[in-house]
Amino acid sequence: MEIGIGIAIALIAVIAVVVLLRSKKSTANSAQTKVVAPTQHSVAEAVASTVSLSSRFARTSGGFAAALKSAFGAGSDDAVWQGVEEALLMADVGVSATEVIIAQARKAAGRSSDPDLIKSALKNEILNVLNEQSNRELNRVDPLTVVLIVGVNGAGKTTSVGKIAYRLTRAGLKVVLGAADTFRAAAADQLDTWATRTDSIIVKGAENSDPAAVAFDAVASASDTGADVVLIDTAGRLHTKQGLMDELSKIRRVVEKKAPVSEVLLVLDATTGQNGLQQAKVFAEAVDVTGIVLTKLDGTAKGGVVIAVQQLLQVPVKFVGIGETAEDLIDFDPEEFVDALFA
Ligand code: GDP
Ligand code: GDP
Ligand code: MG
Repeated sequence: MEIGIGIAIALIAVIAVVVLLRSKKSTANSAQTKVVAPTQHSVAEAVASTVSLSSRFARTSGGFAAALKSAFGAGSDDAVWQGVEEALLMADVGVSATEVIIAQARKAAGRSSDPDLIKSALKNEILNVLNEQSNRELNRVDPLTVVLIVGVNGAGKTTSVGKIAYRLTRAGLKVVLGAADTFRAAAADQLDTWATRTDSIIVKGAENSDPAAVAFDAVASASDTGADVVLIDTAGRLHTKQGLMDELSKIRRVVEKKAPVSEVLLVLDATTGQNGLQQAKVFAEAVDVTGIVLTKLDGTAKGGVVIAVQQLLQVPVKFVGIGETAEDLIDFDPEEFVDALFA
């Protein structure tokens, strides 16, 4: 009898070990990431992006730095500051953020017209504006992180979904992509390519099917299969503001029958400047945006929109796109950004 119990216990122990080992095999890294590093910054470190902002930012920084340099050539104190203001506006920093930055930097610099001193005062004030938002990590929630990706057509939503999936899967997380842009057949195909490239699972619907239903199915599938993150790609047509609001809030409402939305990332094309800011406003009204992905910073000489959009929406820029490949997404680091801007 006792031997029987002993054998039973031994058997249970063996089965438990086997089950544990098998489940470890598929989630070893994810479990590790969760315990040691549940944040996006740590995920980024684990992935160790080889691309630096400044290497891709050359054209961007050239724009602002050059304008600033010519401002310092202007004679009087007022003329210098006016030039600095123009340089900021030209870099798409936006009127409201520029006002704040100039007023504070001018106070700090006093009557000095020393370019280095003015530059360092400006850097400080830009950092102050940027650092009003500090949580730049992808909001990871256990057991399932649900991320909605929104933005106008062509902003870089699908590409950003792919890039984020790439990082997460490389860090060992199990990722599901929801193809809720059912408006164009090509949209799901494009996401399919990213799913293959990043070892993610894709959930699609029929063309023109209800995007909310696809989103729901993606979250349900992620939840049922024990995935760590589900990224939902949405359509971006801005036909009418109301239509967009309805569609996005419906997606959210339906998804939340299954699991809470952890993060709503607004994807903005940095090359659209002030127009992009207008779009940002519309989206922020439609859905509760929690973070910004600013794409195509490699393609503009106006990096200042990072500052403008964050100030406008009062939500952090979390990621920056600096190219078209999977590796071309980096965490937004204010210090690195400001250094690149002034370089
Ligand atoms: P969506 O309509 O918002 O899903 O936009 P897509 O993801 O399809 O991207 C539109 C185009 O922008 C594609 O050609 C992408 O390769 C390109 N793109 C996206 N992000 C970046 C970026 O950070 N830099 C550059 N240079 N191109 C990008
Ligand atoms: P309504 O269209 O405003 O009434 O919103 P509903 O809450 O009824 O959901 C809208 C759509 O989401 C539905 O037509 C379904 O396609 C989808 N949906 C909602 N709940 C579920 C669900 O439990 N399972 C699945 N697969 N789809 C759902
Ligand atoms: Mg797309």
